[in-house]
Amino acid sequence: MNLNYLMPTRIIMGENCLFNERSLLAQLGKKACMITGKHSARACGGYDDAVKALEANGQQYVLYDGVMNNPTDNCVFEAGELAGKEGCDFILAIGGGSPMDAAKAAAVLAAHMLSKEELFALSFDKVLPIAAVPTTAGTGSETTPYSILVDTAGPAKRSIGSPLLFPRFAFLDHRYLRRLGRDTTVHTAMDALSHAVEGILSPRANCISDTLARETIAIIRNCFGPLMDFPADPAEFPAEIRKKLLLASSMAGMVISQTGTTVNHSMGYQLTINWGTDHGRATGLLLGPFLRWCREKERADSSIKPRIPGLCAALGMDLEDFCAVLENLLGKRERASEAELGAWGKIKMKNAVNTYIEPCQEEIADIFRKASGGGRNGAE
Ligand code: NAP
Ligand code: FE
Repeated sequence: MNLNYLMPTRIIMGENCLFNERSLLAQLGKKACMITGKHSARACGGYDDAVKALEANGQQYVLYDGVMNNPTDNCVFEAGELAGKEGCDFILAIGGGSPMDAAKAAAVLAAHMLSKEELFALSFDKVLPIAAVPTTAGTGSETTPYSILVDTAGPAKRSIGSPLLFPRFAFLDHRYLRRLGRDTTVHTAMDALSHAVEGILSPRANCISDTLARETIAIIRNCFGPLMDFPADPAEFPAEIRKKLLLASSMAGMVISQTGTTVNHSMGYQLTINWGTDHGRATGLLLGPFLRWCREKERADSSIKPRIPGLCAALGMDLEDFCAVLENLLGKRERASEAELGAWGKIKMKNAVNTYIEPCQEEIADIFRKASGGGRNGAE
């Protein structure tokens, strides 16, 4: 068996860990560029804790708080320019996947003057060190070497992946998620679940990624009940479940760091680009139809080594029961028009080749149809 396992991110988890472990931030340099979205980093308390930690360390900081959901190339150039101009030594990202991903690209751009194409072509060999403080539990960006950006020229979602982009430190403090609403909580949990499931269905799966993926799935399946019963006041969602989801998200990030994601994620990007669907919801909408297609292929072709039974064992339920859980969590599905389904079915999906069974274009079109309320023929 060949293995090449890299996971250089130090994960620190616990209440107030950013302040308590501030000596780690002190190792990164004299001046931080904090990168956040518009509101939530301040509202959740993460920004204030970071300021306290940096000030206690005698470190300076500037703030870039212009990251939008699904960050664009323009935004990362702005953030990178600010960090470079201000002479920052490191980047401190506080937020969901969007600020963390933007921070990674900004860390590259602060270290080099690059064009957009050079950035996407990975023409870089240095990057400012990054510390990440997730305030959602789903993308796992705090433990991955990926930054997913919207190339405004497409528009299309494109990813940058380099071992240089692994954050040096990930600080996991579930208190920052206390007021995260029902939809973002559920959708980000679906993202983490999709990462673990897709990790198992990747041709690059190995014994370490599979072990992490199965454990991630076991943690998240035990959160299905509380997610279905999400309270009217998000602050009443149990803190213990927040902690579990936050840990599961970082573990699933470790999975995809090894395996990459599959066609399910590439297809999800189309829903986000075209409809603005939350990333995690988009992957969740596709997951059931994608897994049913995998099961059909496994049943039809005995040369395929089956992976769905192992996945169901990790889920502790059969595939149809899992699809029912997803339906319950997703609620009413968005419907695609025939024109949309026709167009999406023709697009080449980057990660189709990173799927243990590579779907052909017709099969991709069929999965889209089933995920989008069944197209003209109605819901599944
Ligand atoms: P997000 O886009 O980072 O945030 C979604 C919304 O949640 C924003 O409005 C944000 O507000 C708000 N929010 C964040 N934390 C909050 C909190 N604690 N309390 C209340 N509101 C909060 O969502 P995400 O799902 O975490 O990230 C999605 C992005 O990650 C996508 O671009 C996706 O492609 C990417 N992704 C990356 C990887 C990777 O490996 N790098 C993996 C999967 C997905 P503010 O704007 O005010 O902050
Ligand atoms: Fe994802």
